[in-house]
Amino acid sequence: MNYLHGLSPDDSPDARATHEAGHLVMSWLLDRQPHACSLDDDGTGQPSIRGAKEETLHQRLLASLAGMVAEGNREVLGDLLDNLGNPDYFSRQSDAFATAVIAAMLDERERRDIVIGFILAGAELFQEYGETLRQAKELLLRDHEIVLETSSRLWQEWNQFHHLENRPKSDVVYRALARQLDWKLPEQCFIGWDLQPIRPR
Ligand SMILES: [Zn+2]
Repeated sequence: MNYLHGLSPDDSPDARATHEAGHLVMSWLLDRQPHACSLDDDGTGQPSIRGAKEETLHQRLLASLAGMVAEGNREVLGDLLDNLGNPDYFSRQSDAFATAVIAAMLDERERRDIVIGFILAGAELFQEYGETLRQAKELLLRDHEIVLETSSRLWQEWNQFHHLENRPKSDVVYRALARQLDWKLPEQCFIGWDLQPIRPR
């Protein structure tokens, strides 16, 4: 059998564009550096350029899930949840492998619930920023790639369009996670990537 666990069974341009757009929009939401992306990537869609600051496990988990979640790939996500403790089950090229490696660092007893919460929070963010996801997808379908200059411009446009010049994206992302995982966060402040209050809202 040629089926490789963790790789999307849908290789259509539409599915690939949705997948890569998911990585791109999530990179923006996670405060990663703008980066080029292409439909001809090797399939993992993991940008080689990371955020300037050291990333948290939560940021890395959302980034590795983003393509699968944007695609709404139930088959691959279900397979992932069933094999979270066993990265070697998955093709090394796959986002599922990268996700299982990160998830292995979580407490085994809550690993599955946490990853489910992250999947649901990712889906919620892609709904909230659906216009942006569609824009990225259409650009990819039209040009097959988004070059660095374009993604730098998009980062600025998206910040303005969504009024995120003054609200840290860590606050957007952590409040989505808190809704899904039933975490209690203080209300009158913004939340930073270290999950600590950073300044009054
Ligand atoms: Zn991917």
